[in-house]
Amino acid sequence: MHDFEKKGCQTRIIHAGHRPDPATGAVSTPIYQSSTFAFKSADHGAASFRGDPDGGFIYTRLGNPTIMALEESLAILEKGCGAMACATGMAAVNLVYYALLSQGDHVVCTESLYGPSRMVLETEYPRFGIAATFVDSADAHNVAAAMTPATKLVYLETPANPTLKLADLTAIAAIAHRHGALVCVDNTFASPYLQNPLELGADLVLHSMTKFINGHSDVVAGMVVVKDRDLHKRLLKVHRNLGGTMDPHQAWLVQRGIKTLGLRMDRAQDNCLKLAHFLEKHPKIAWVRYPFLASHPQYDLARRQMRGGGAVMSFGVKGGLAAGKKLMDNLDLCTLAVSLGGIETLIEHPASMTHAGIPEADRRAAAITDDLVRIAVGCEDYADLEADLARVLATI
Ligand SMILES: *Cc1c(COP(=O)(O)O)cnc(C)c1O
Repeated sequence: MHDFEKKGCQTRIIHAGHRPDPATGAVSTPIYQSSTFAFKSADHGAASFRGDPDGGFIYTRLGNPTIMALEESLAILEKGCGAMACATGMAAVNLVYYALLSQGDHVVCTESLYGPSRMVLETEYPRFGIAATFVDSADAHNVAAAMTPATKLVYLETPANPTLKLADLTAIAAIAHRHGALVCVDNTFASPYLQNPLELGADLVLHSMTKFINGHSDVVAGMVVVKDRDLHKRLLKVHRNLGGTMDPHQAWLVQRGIKTLGLRMDRAQDNCLKLAHFLEKHPKIAWVRYPFLASHPQYDLARRQMRGGGAVMSFGVKGGLAAGKKLMDNLDLCTLAVSLGGIETLIEHPASMTHAGIPEADRRAAAITDDLVRIAVGCEDYADLEADLARVLATI
């Protein structure tokens, strides 16, 4: 791991966790599609179960060479000490909640969390005596005010979905740690290419690798990366027994996708920033929210905390929901679909789609207004994207 600390981010993305296969020299990590692994002897089996250095793989839910390579890659990219690959992003979210929260515990969260990440805290975890408070984490004082002696976890998204509000990770980590709580950041929107929460004070970082990391809208996958060995041990035990682990073929697909993360993100966020400038000046657009626009209320924090604004933005079309719907229904190039971080541009309406499960009053309180349109910009030619939006906006 040490070698990588001096290398640039693109180099780390391409090489971390990727090495020629020791058995065959294959340059692409082979898909070890096997559920179980033969021991050389009873002693070797015993050493494997003890986790000795001369032990080997046992059973794919407990560890697998293809999956391990991807875990190593993410641990290096997020500057953590270990990582756990999960079947989906939600398996990663639930691994963190389940491993770290016990009866009587309390968690403080960003109010506009990814829909299901909030929903499970409202509908499932209360059955186990776990309480959650949702705050606007764009103001660190709101997090401080929500902390109680029972708070064990502060769970953040920055940039948040779909409001693009940021959370000041350094300030909030200091607050959480003063109260003895851990900090977990869902870093899906920024990706490790643009933001490294563990360096800013977080204890855990997680990803839906379905999005930018895989980048091709063809896999669902998640990952949790932890800052220290004790947390790794604590989560790994739960992860293996809970069973939301990854499949080797899935790991290989994500490895194939991640190699171009930097290239894709550079291109997509360049498109996104240009489109943000275009929309901001457009007479049919009411407002645009993107972290690297000077008009973003937390522009200074964005420049401090992120190496780029990412490739997701939200905006309101004048005329509210009806106008927004008309826009989405008449675009040719932008695909009307949820998800983000793919090579192609996707557009969606959170209030009726991804965030429809949140009660209307809570949705409004979280600034997910009915006119909000979310666009996840892809890697197409910029001129074609602008032309697609301009053509439809002219008819509204
Ligand atoms: C998509 C997403 C998730 C959930 O990931 P899945 O792979 O769909 O389970 C969690 N957090 C954020 C921010 C997401 O965008």
